[in-house]
Amino acid sequence: MKTIGLIGGMSWESTVTYYQLLNEGVKDALGGLHSAKVLLYSVDFFEIESLMSRGDWDKAADLLGGVAARLENAGADMILICTNTLHKVAPQVQSRIRVPLVHIAVAAAEALTAQGISRVGLLGTKYTMTQAFYRDKLVERGIEVLIPEGDDIDLVNRVIFDELCLGIVKEESRTEYLRVIADLQQRGAQGILLGCTELGLIVAREDVSLPLFDTTEIHAKKALALALTE
Ligand code: GLU
Repeated sequence: MKTIGLIGGMSWESTVTYYQLLNEGVKDALGGLHSAKVLLYSVDFFEIESLMSRGDWDKAADLLGGVAARLENAGADMILICTNTLHKVAPQVQSRIRVPLVHIAVAAAEALTAQGISRVGLLGTKYTMTQAFYRDKLVERGIEVLIPEGDDIDLVNRVIFDELCLGIVKEESRTEYLRVIADLQQRGAQGILLGCTELGLIVAREDVSLPLFDTTEIHAKKALALALTE
């Protein structure tokens, strides 16, 4: 079994889910007392969020690149950045390591394609929904991307940073998310991509009539497949 290196803490609420999914996945595959070989470096999200909101992506890239190098030196066979948004600096992080960086949006595109989805509604932070670094990974693989319109971009973003990343799940926010999802469905989305690692905390499969693709699950599953193959 290979060792999975996690850059977590963005936020730690979703890193908990990664840790659980990886261990459950290894237990399912190998049985008994087997569990995942994981190296976790959990950052202080306050520092990272400050850099993002100031637009200082170079500093964020340097910080996460340094963390990735430390995980590789400690024995990680692959690296996962446990957030969609920070994949904005994925190329710089990959350039600091020799082991593969398992890209969350590439994994998402593969999962969507495998289910025959060619037009997806994307929910995530404003960075993920509106910037090319994420959308392009889907478009390059033949997937059309729909995002919320107008004020709904800010609403979806605000709930992530002001509530979910703090472990707060409000019923009224869930209702708003379901309204935004219904809107995406009406505009032709064949599935919904939860392109933020905290969104599984607020939207459940049974809440939505469209197929739901949770990037935390997809990312962890891809790492497991890599960790468990020769
Ligand atoms: N975890 C979130 C994501 O997947 C948002 C928090 C962050 O900006 O890292 O994008």
